Amino acid sequence: MKHLAKTLTVSSLLLTSIGWTANSLADSPAEITRIADAMGGLERLRSVSNQTVSADITGIAPLQAPVPGGEPERFDNITYTITRALDGERFNTHWTLDIEFPLKTHYAFTEIINGEHGAVLGVDSILQTPQAPMQAIRLGARKINHFVTSPVAVVKAMLAAPTEVVLLGSLEHRERNETVLAIKKYGKDIQLWIDNNTHLPIKASYWDSNPSYGDTQIVTQYSDWQDAAGIKVPMLIKQSDQGMEMVRIQRRSVEFDIAFIADPFEVPASLNVDLDTGLYNIGVKYANWFHRYLLVGIPFDLNQYSPESVFLHPVGDGVFYLQGFTHHSLIVEMSDYLVLFDPVLLEERTQLVLPVIKQQWPNKKIKYVVPTHFHVDHSGGLRGYVADGAQLVTTERNEDFYENVLKSKHIVYPDLLALMHKKARMLEINDGETYVIDDGERRIHLLQIANRHAPGLIAPYIEDQKILFISDLYSPGFFTAPIPPQFSYWGLDLYNDLLPRKLEIKTIIGAHGGMGSFQDFIDAMNLTFPEL
Ligand SMILES: [Zn+2]
Repeated sequence: MKHLAKTLTVSSLLLTSIGWTANSLADSPAEITRIADAMGGLERLRSVSNQTVSADITGIAPLQAPVPGGEPERFDNITYTITRALDGERFNTHWTLDIEFPLKTHYAFTEIINGEHGAVLGVDSILQTPQAPMQAIRLGARKINHFVTSPVAVVKAMLAAPTEVVLLGSLEHRERNETVLAIKKYGKDIQLWIDNNTHLPIKASYWDSNPSYGDTQIVTQYSDWQDAAGIKVPMLIKQSDQGMEMVRIQRRSVEFDIAFIADPFEVPASLNVDLDTGLYNIGVKYANWFHRYLLVGIPFDLNQYSPESVFLHPVGDGVFYLQGFTHHSLIVEMSDYLVLFDPVLLEERTQLVLPVIKQQWPNKKIKYVVPTHFHVDHSGGLRGYVADGAQLVTTERNEDFYENVLKSKHIVYPDLLALMHKKARMLEINDGETYVIDDGERRIHLLQIANRHAPGLIAPYIEDQKILFISDLYSPGFFTAPIPPQFSYWGLDLYNDLLPRKLEIKTIIGAHGGMGSFQDFIDAMNLTFPEL
């Protein structure tokens, strides 16, 4: 506990040195009233009941560059029109996504959130569901994002519950004098920073967890204030994660008190399901992370954190496929230990599958955990395995990235590794070198595949079973032919890398999709590349 105690002391010193004090505003809502006055007056703000905003959204896809720290993929053709009730948690959002990455595609869909219920109408992702109840994870993630992207909503929440607002104090900051208020919402402390000259909000901030970086501060900045029906609203909103701008919302129009013909917040009865609070809380914990993936049509909000999403079955002698719905791992049994490939998704997935593994192998521990590549969906569950005693195996080029993952701060949302203060062990392979895990009875060759998705991506080849496990470059059975362009380039890279190796491959097992023969792979590629 030494490290944690030290960090807490440093934080409280910081708070004292800039003179922050925490006072409830129950008896003196003057601070909130001042903001309300600046935004159009207490009465005007109190009188509005709904807000409709249309905006264009641009940004960068989170952590999917080919190499750690590399140029991230961008998206620039997303729009939304959001109508919200300003007196409760009801939202109707129509999204259009015209994106290039990870798949060049167009999605148009509507999300309805009504308290604990939600629905998605229209195809919103690769998984192609025409309509569905909203996943509890998405409900949590979207609610927080919708809240902080509307300062009117934040100030109205403060006016409605002044006893829950805390005055953190004032500070000089870059020649600007600011006051910071905080309100607890959705289980998070959300800070609202006020410019003491204009009394308008500058930004809202809160702490999220990020599977790679641990505690991260999400800041939503408001600028370009304009008048909309007597209320001041920001037309430009920028969201950053640890100081790096991720999403930019350029509002086109803001309207208040639109009259509805039909209730826009009504969730179709057939799509009403009971809220799973455990999953909802996962959405709240990683709110911005989920939200940003949803912006590029990646449905990471799918429930892979409940027992019904764990499928463990043998696919060869001592080789087990640990499947989820979209992300799978591979477990290889050695004479007296296990090797796990792809610690997928999040800590919550790891803590769900570890007991299943322990039950299956009460006498063997996971000695090595090997992410095929650093992309967060293939490495986000790493820390839980390391906490369980596994050694991380990676390549030179990813060393710094994983060092940061392993020492990242998890104080706001602690995980087991953070609580244990255990020194993590890393086995680092030279770039390009084929490392062989060999216990005298079985050999696993960790091939490093030359490719454009994530150079040096590890593909384990289990020699005695002639099994190859591959992530992202090819996903058996995932796409109906023809494979979309980007994915077919990656498949071609895999093909070109494997060709000179002259390995006999009987089965290809995917971190996505399923499994198939090597011939299936060649056939799938032939559809796009007849010259092969
Ligand atoms: Zn990837």
